[in-house]
Amino acid sequence: MPKKYPKVKVKKSDTGLGLFAAEDIKKNKIIIEYTGERISMKEANKRGGRYLFGVTKKIVIDAKDRKHTARYINHACKPNAEAEHDTTEDRIFIRSLRKIKEGEEITYDYGKEYLEDLIGKKNCLCRHCVEKREKKEKKVNRRKLNAEKTKGTESGAEKTEAVVNDVTALPTDQ
Ligand SMILES: [Zn+2]
Repeated sequence: MPKKYPKVKVKKSDTGLGLFAAEDIKKNKIIIEYTGERISMKEANKRGGRYLFGVTKKIVIDAKDRKHTARYINHACKPNAEAEHDTTEDRIFIRSLRKIKEGEEITYDYGKEYLEDLIGKKNCLCRHCVEKREKKEKKVNRRKLNAEKTKGTESGAEKTEAVVNDVTALPTDQ
C-alpha cells in the first residue's frame, strides 16, 4: 500500500458527481482504495444500495458513507483507471492505466455484467458512448439527436437503479 495517494476531488461530472484528479497522476499509480463497510454477499443483497463493490463471491464493500471517496468514480468504457483486487487482504485499489492530467475525471470499467446485463450497452452514459451515439445521430437527423438526448437523461435514472441491483447480478452459485 502506498504511503501517499495522489490528490483527487469530487465534483460535478457529465452524469452527476464524479472523482477528478487534483494533480497530474502518473501511469500505473494507485489512486485510491475503494473503502467501505465490509459485508457478506448475503447482507449486500438484503441491503441493496448504490455503492456496493463485489470483491469476491462472498465479500462486498458497501461505500454508502460519503467519506468513502472512491464511490464517486464513474464507469467508462474507455477508462483511464482500473479496479485492482489485492487478493492477500481482499482489498480493492484503483490504479491509473495511463497518465491522468489534473482536472481529468477518473473512471474505470465497471465490467461486462454492469454494462450488458444491468444498464445495457445502448444506455451507457460514458463520454465514449455518448459521443459515438451523437456522431451517428448527427448523420441521420439533427432533430432526432435532441430526442436522443432527452432519452439519455431518463437512462440516467435507470443507471442509478442498475447499480442498486449490482450485487444481485453477480453469480452467487459458485
Ligand atoms: Zn460507455
